[in-house]
Amino acid sequence: MTSIVLVRGDITQQHVDALVNAANSSLLGGGGVDGAIHRAGGPDILEACRALRASHYGKGLRTGQAVATTAGRLPARWVIHTVGPVYSADEDRSALLASCHRESLRVADELGAKTVAFPAISTGIFRWPLEDAARIAIETVREAKTSVEEVRFVLFDERAYEAFASQMP
Ligand code: ADP
Repeated sequence: MTSIVLVRGDITQQHVDALVNAANSSLLGGGGVDGAIHRAGGPDILEACRALRASHYGKGLRTGQAVATTAGRLPARWVIHTVGPVYSADEDRSALLASCHRESLRVADELGAKTVAFPAISTGIFRWPLEDAARIAIETVREAKTSVEEVRFVLFDERAYEAFASQMP
């Protein structure tokens, strides 16, 4: 059984095996949590992302997919980059948001990571309503077949924390 833990804080400070980055498809950095991870982790992460772009990910990473790199100077072993969907009121993209969580856990299993920290993917620049994103994230982790022992959702502010807390079983 995977235990789900909620903490309010900064994902770059988490001592975990792997932390998940809400990246963009270019893999070359961006704002929000992505910027924070690259700033705190140092240039090794960007270098590893550039190497991915030069090899298997020439066109970048597709929405809903995940890929791992070093965590550089962060207190974790790996960063798992995943690309969340931009929220749309007209089109249901929930399956892609669920896929981010499932694929990140699949990559974590490949690495042998037992503790994994997630941010609230798609809820920043990509505008996904917090409670709905929280419901999808928590349900997907609960249903995933994974050897990860702890999934830690790291919520940056009180509003995000409360949204996730409201969706816990
Ligand atoms: P997206 O493009 O997937 O929406 P963002 O980085 O804009 O990604 O936002 C995703 C979530 O990450 C937001 O809820 C934002 O408040 C949060 N966030 C931003 N910085 C951090 C951080 N250092 N640690 C944890 N969460 C963060």
